[in-house]
Amino acid sequence: MSLTRKGFLKMFGLGALAAGSKAYGLPSQALTNARTAAKKLKITGVDIYLYDIPLKSPFRISIGEVTAANDLLIRLRTDQGLTGIGEACPFPPITGETQATNAAAAKAIRDMIVGRDPLAIDDLLRLIGPIVHANPSAVAAFDMALYDILGQVAGLPLFRLLGGTKSVFETDITTSIDTLEKMTAESKGYADLGYETLKVKVGLDPDEDFARLEAIRAAVGPKMAIRIDANQGWSVPQAVYALRKMEPLAIQFCEQPVLASDTAGMAAVRAQSPISVMADEAVFGPADAIKLIRAGACDTFNIKLMKAGGILNAIRIAHVADAANMRCMVGCMTESNLGLTAAAHVVASQANIVYADLDGNTDHVVDPVVGGMTVKAGTLTLPEAPGLGCDVDPAFVKKLAKI
Ligand code: MG
Repeated sequence: MSLTRKGFLKMFGLGALAAGSKAYGLPSQALTNARTAAKKLKITGVDIYLYDIPLKSPFRISIGEVTAANDLLIRLRTDQGLTGIGEACPFPPITGETQATNAAAAKAIRDMIVGRDPLAIDDLLRLIGPIVHANPSAVAAFDMALYDILGQVAGLPLFRLLGGTKSVFETDITTSIDTLEKMTAESKGYADLGYETLKVKVGLDPDEDFARLEAIRAAVGPKMAIRIDANQGWSVPQAVYALRKMEPLAIQFCEQPVLASDTAGMAAVRAQSPISVMADEAVFGPADAIKLIRAGACDTFNIKLMKAGGILNAIRIAHVADAANMRCMVGCMTESNLGLTAAAHVVASQANIVYADLDGNTDHVVDPVVGGMTVKAGTLTLPEAPGLGCDVDPAFVKKLAKI
């Protein structure tokens, strides 16, 4: 019995590949040509768009709020017709970037990479990193687009190319800061939708935070996992007091209880808290991870593509953590389903990334992304299409300002 290429790929569930790249609207011959010519692939251009998506309601944390995702969308074009897409989602209260600084950085990066090999990802990021280190979200958008191209050239969904297998996993959903009544009703609503893990924003007055959590726990019942995030809002004594008081509420862990810059304070909280401590704002890249491990400042890391500058450094953090026998979460800012899908590929690729917090587009007024990950009642499923496995609706892109 002879086996066709299509049949062979179908045996392995690579239906999208067998069918060519219809999900991307690219003829399969162009894909074949691109793979054949991969060794001499060149970036020929970069389209940069202001990618604004309003939120239904402001996203409020202890150190600030945002009312819209003011992002960048970038598309890398190559001489073989393949393109890769990426998203920058700067979250000013955490990374200090804005859409305007990211746009300036993206224009500088464009000048650096046109004419270069998109598959030389390590080389390109070493070129970009030292120059654009204060705009990690802009770098993340380019890193993401490079991996999108790599995945398409390889004909594999990114998580498989990176060595992963878990294409279905759980994500939590977040209740942001509001009145006790509103936070409790929102949390109960998520439980009713079938979510099994809730993340609750805290970091204001410790007694008020406790009262909110106590009401939420009573509303959602004992089975729902609850993790909390103080976003640096507490002092060290407040954090120790709050976390000791919250022990009976069965809190899974607490993200960033105190200032990110206070490594010794984080270690002090960790030593005195019955609830484990996750570093978030304190860990942007792998060097931060090493510093925190040496100081004994946390039990786990929250990795975000927008802090790390993309997929490559996110995986490096996971590897540093793994060597220290530590587990990680991958979180997000307020990305569209494009940035979230890229982050989900990272989760799926690493065994020690055991938590996911990929709910950044919950409050987006529109979802302009075609394909990509799907979430139903907290169960996230990655696509099997090559690369990131998603694109942005051309009709939506047409309306965006191009820079
Ligand atoms: Mg956090």
